[in-house]
Amino acid sequence: MIIIMLGAPASGKGSVAEILTKELNIPAVSSGDIFRKHISEETEIGKKLKEYVTKGELVPDSIVLEMLEARLNEEDAKNGLILDGFVRTIPQAEALDKMLEARNQKIDLVVNLETSDEEILERVVNRRICKNCKAVYNTVLHPSAVKGKCDKCGGELYQRDDDTLERAKNRLEVYYKETAPLQEYYEKTGALYTTTLSVKINRMKDEVAHDVIEYLKTK
Ligand code: AMP
Repeated sequence: MIIIMLGAPASGKGSVAEILTKELNIPAVSSGDIFRKHISEETEIGKKLKEYVTKGELVPDSIVLEMLEARLNEEDAKNGLILDGFVRTIPQAEALDKMLEARNQKIDLVVNLETSDEEILERVVNRRICKNCKAVYNTVLHPSAVKGKCDKCGGELYQRDDDTLERAKNRLEVYYKETAPLQEYYEKTGALYTTTLSVKINRMKDEVAHDVIEYLKTK
């Protein structure tokens, strides 16, 4: 089963994917996490990625697609994957379709998370991530018990370089220009499922993931 998580930065893609991966027993992969790992380990590819990722610009399709294909070829992906952040442009989506066709696989579901820009920006600037286990916190909505320390593993919390207000605004602009057109692309294939994760209406990740799983049963 192939599931794509679609949505603006901090729309909840990673949080929902984390639940789906356990419920559906297929791995979730975050393109951003893969890229940030390359950058922090200063690999050759990491050096090429750094400027794009830090500024909140999209990494060129050719690099993204090479990494996506390599990930699809890994052993644990043979029963499917939850793609969080992979495919952010129409050319990436077209290339993924071809890769899957060659493997006799298809996209089963595209979970499209919609949230107001105001809430997105609030979430981005207040987001803190554990350096060790990657747990995500929000300094206002969901703070850790001890400031700067992860509740789960005691790891140090940090703010991503691209989670500043200015960069978040840029990422949102890039999202509307390059990624949002994918909604129409996947609407046409019948794979799109649009929902929202919003603190303002108290609709949190568990409820969203539950609805996705119920929806999958009807497909
Ligand atoms: P994320 O962690 O999903 O917010 O991604 C962080 C950054 O990684 C983005 O702002 C882009 O610079 C880069 N990135 C992640 N996925 C892609 C993709 N599919 N295409 C292009 N750039 C990407």
